Amino acid sequence: MPVVIGAAAIAAAGVAGGLWWWRAVDTPDPPPKPDLPTLAAPAPAPAPIAPRPAEIGPRIATQAEILAHRAEAPTMFRLDANPRIFVADFPNLDRQGAAFNRTAALVEKAGLPRDRVLDDAALAAAIARSGDTPGTYYYGHNYRGRDLERFFALADRDGIALTRDEAWLRDELARIRRLVPAPGEFAIVSVPGLEERVDAAMREAILQHEVGHGHFFADARFAEHVAQVWRDTFTEAERAAFRAFLAREGYDPAIEEVMMNEAMAYLIFTPDPRFFQPVHAGLTDQRADQLRAALRGRAPQ
Ligand SMILES: [Zn+2]
Repeated sequence: MPVVIGAAAIAAAGVAGGLWWWRAVDTPDPPPKPDLPTLAAPAPAPAPIAPRPAEIGPRIATQAEILAHRAEAPTMFRLDANPRIFVADFPNLDRQGAAFNRTAALVEKAGLPRDRVLDDAALAAAIARSGDTPGTYYYGHNYRGRDLERFFALADRDGIALTRDEAWLRDELARIRRLVPAPGEFAIVSVPGLEERVDAAMREAILQHEVGHGHFFADARFAEHVAQVWRDTFTEAERAAFRAFLAREGYDPAIEEVMMNEAMAYLIFTPDPRFFQPVHAGLTDQRADQLRAALRGRAPQ
């Protein structure tokens, strides 16, 4: 899933990629205690403090820089336009799915448990029932940091064996949490690399769509604005039409926040008509433009 309006603005805010890091403060080890008492021993010299190598956080990048990147392995970026949005770039859809499909099932896929993590067999069955493949269960993903932390806690509780890419994500999540200590909130979104199922326009649309979700999660003012437009500007019939469209796409229509977040992202952050056209949600182009204008009123620039 994809994003949009913000593209030019985000690109305009562009900045050369740089490294963000923090240096941990080492606590020196206490001086060793001698095994035998000595007389008139000189005071031990203070132990030298060996600097720990600085921990390198995800590289800060513009959306355009992420788009131009070609991942040979999963790679985490930190978005310059909002440093609480992290973008995982994958070599292809299959690697992306291996990292996030189990979380999608827990957090927002329709008809699946919200209180436990699926094992490999149950996940494969759920994906097959949806008519998708592991690569296409979602074309892009987006989650709050705390939802991912809950996923890994439940997976640990239930003894679920993580995939290689889930283990990578778990480590990245812990690294990001050190940059954004609790209860600070952040978003992790993802984009697949170019492959036979993802052309350049699709990759761009997916990245924009997911970054739109990132703004929803990481910008409380924008999220409140979206909620207000969803409540006051959309009619009940329009909300129902969006819920039906999103349910067909596999989202749980009972999760109201997912509904408004997706309606927002599809309307104003998804430039590829292969992912979304107003008619998909029963809207005329004219009405879609009215809703877009309302949503964009306070969208991040
Ligand atoms: Zn979405």
